[in-house]
Amino acid sequence: MPELPEVETMVRDVRPALLGQRFLDVRLSHSDVLRGVTRPRLIKALTGATVRDVTRRAKHGVIHLDQHRFVLQPGMTGNLLIYHRPLEAAESRYAVLRARLGSGAEFVFRDIRRIGTLLLLDQRGWEAYDRALGPEPLDPGLTVQRFTEGLQSSSSAIKKVLMDQRRIVGVGNIYANEALFAAGIDPSKPARKVSLDGYARLFRETRRILQAAIDSEGTTFRDYRTGTGQPGNFQLELQVYERQGERCRRCGTRLSATHDIDARITVFCHRCQK
Ligand SMILES: [Zn+2]
Repeated sequence: MPELPEVETMVRDVRPALLGQRFLDVRLSHSDVLRGVTRPRLIKALTGATVRDVTRRAKHGVIHLDQHRFVLQPGMTGNLLIYHRPLEAAESRYAVLRARLGSGAEFVFRDIRRIGTLLLLDQRGWEAYDRALGPEPLDPGLTVQRFTEGLQSSSSAIKKVLMDQRRIVGVGNIYANEALFAAGIDPSKPARKVSLDGYARLFRETRRILQAAIDSEGTTFRDYRTGTGQPGNFQLELQVYERQGERCRRCGTRLSATHDIDARITVFCHRCQK
């Protein structure tokens, strides 16, 4: 599932081709991806609109238009892509939204499982959307104090709290597993019992890992592709995720796995993580 590094990569890849361009011909294959907007209203708002900016918020891509922000939430298998040539049949099969640009390139939101969602927000809608989300972990202005305050008030497992988008955004299952291993914290530990030292390590490691994953253009196991259609490379650097039963790279113990924390797979080293 695309988390912060994957969405950041897609946004960086499609941004140059979109900036300053107009959407000329907008086609939507399915309406079930729309939230709070109808197909006619979305197509009317996009057609002829000029792209002023393309950014990321949390795990979502945001296309800034004059009147609206068009928010693309990739969900499980969503991809933001740019094509400078006609799409092949296999490529157009899962293209949920296609928009031809003034330059002749084509912007595509592709989503195999169609769990992703598309939102069209006016200024007030954007403010409400933005307010409901926690701070950005890579914001240079985010302090360890604010990070800690956002997480430590909960008695839920630290892994669940780290993935709670109202407390801190962008971290999903892959990077929560990795950050907790790197910080030496047991993923099932209640957030309020993690020490201040533990939060300082978790803050540092979460930022380091997210940045390293962006530098590697994200993690690809199955469907995720960059905005140019290439797989990412961070799967080669993962320490625990998808390594259950293999040896801990730090101490040699066999890594454990559980689904008990949040129904998703948690992989951890019971010796290194306390
Ligand atoms: Zn270990």
